[in-house]
Amino acid sequence: MDFSLNKEQQDIAKAARKFAASEFPDRAREFDREEKFDLGLWKKACDLGFVGVFIDKKYGGLGYGFFEHCLINEEFWAVEPGIGSAILSTTFGAELLQMFGSEQQKKTVLPQLAEGKAIIGTAITEPDAGSDVTMASTTAVKDGAEWVINGSKMFATNGTIARYMNVFCLTDPENASRHKRHSFILVPTDARGYQAIKIHGKLGIRASDTAELVFRDLRVPAENLVGVAGAGFSQLMEFFNRTRLHVCAQGVGLARAALEEAIRHVKGRVQFGQPLAAFQVTQFKIAEMATRIRAARNLYYEACWAMDNGRVDHALIAMAKWYSGKTAVYCADEALQMHGGYGYIDEYKVQRLYRDAKILEIYEGTKEIEKLIVARTLLR
Ligand SMILES: Cc1cc2nc3c(=O)[nH]c(=O)nc-3n(C[C@H](O)[C@H](O)[C@H](O)COP(=O)(O)OP(=O)(O)OC[C@H]3O[C@@H](n4cnc5c(N)ncnc54)[C@H](O)[C@@H]3O)c2cc1C
Repeated sequence: MDFSLNKEQQDIAKAARKFAASEFPDRAREFDREEKFDLGLWKKACDLGFVGVFIDKKYGGLGYGFFEHCLINEEFWAVEPGIGSAILSTTFGAELLQMFGSEQQKKTVLPQLAEGKAIIGTAITEPDAGSDVTMASTTAVKDGAEWVINGSKMFATNGTIARYMNVFCLTDPENASRHKRHSFILVPTDARGYQAIKIHGKLGIRASDTAELVFRDLRVPAENLVGVAGAGFSQLMEFFNRTRLHVCAQGVGLARAALEEAIRHVKGRVQFGQPLAAFQVTQFKIAEMATRIRAARNLYYEACWAMDNGRVDHALIAMAKWYSGKTAVYCADEALQMHGGYGYIDEYKVQRLYRDAKILEIYEGTKEIEKLIVARTLLR
């Protein structure tokens, strides 16, 4: 099996790295401290073709596989995770529409996402439904030719800046199967009854917008249903199979950034008459970080390769997801430790990496849920 990048993929990764390196570092500390996002920067990334590369050409995208989107994620996160996250999550939900949306939904929404004219989000989590999404209780009730939505969502990425939100709704509460009770409904965020309340005080990825959503008698046309009624849960699993790969790439990118910061610091910092890099304990840490990064990358490359070749391997994706999150958290922790007290201060990038890393073990399936998926597959 050959996982080396072809020339086009190498060029994509190189261009993404160059863009991120020239645009992100000067803004990173301010965006992190002030929980700020620069829509101009997002627009620039769209204009240069970094956003929504997996969107079909006929809907304004570049028509690449999910792997190319992962490569951009990895490079953006290897420079500044907070900004990388804010920019690339602006299409969080495009995958769902591309797979299951009607022709009309795709034609209306996808070009706007690829061209930097609109942002989308996908709201599943609720106050009482996190890992167990089947408990989601936001209702969508059919009233003539409309759906009427009532309920609330937690932690919706892009909640206050999105033009569209895919909302995971309870449409058939009496269905005997809890996996057939929900449906996705495409909600324009300017609809009456949509309220987004920004969540402040996140540990990391603070440039990214996160909101609590409230829906009060929000009405959308019946044709805003995504796919068929009752298919929401199975659509969500297919959607996560793609987006979890993006999270893997984010983890590898962040871990690479941590390793780079660590190497830079231990080569320059002298204690006991020699650079920290000369101590064997430091060398072992560097070796372990590099090895874990390579292992995490190989896992997600293999999972992407299988996906782009038409084989969806749930257990492999779950392995790649929890392992890349763990690798990011481990590498950021070790890198901060090597910085000593300086790493504890936000003037040093490593402090941001340490805080940004943790989300990778939480969103789009916690590490525990991912391990359950792996174990269930093996024990079946
Ligand atoms: C910054 C940020 C952005 C997010 N973006 C989005 C978004 O755009 N859209 C969206 O819908 N959601 C989003 N989320 C929500 C995220 O996906 C959830 O937080 C996550 O799925 C976990 O749900 P929970 O927080 O309710 O935790 P819970 O489900 O309550 O879990 C708490 C703990 O219990 C563990 N646990 C739960 N069940 C089991 C089990 N069966 N066995 C073992 N352990 C278990 C979990 O692993 C976790 O450690 C975001 C969250 C954050 C913080």
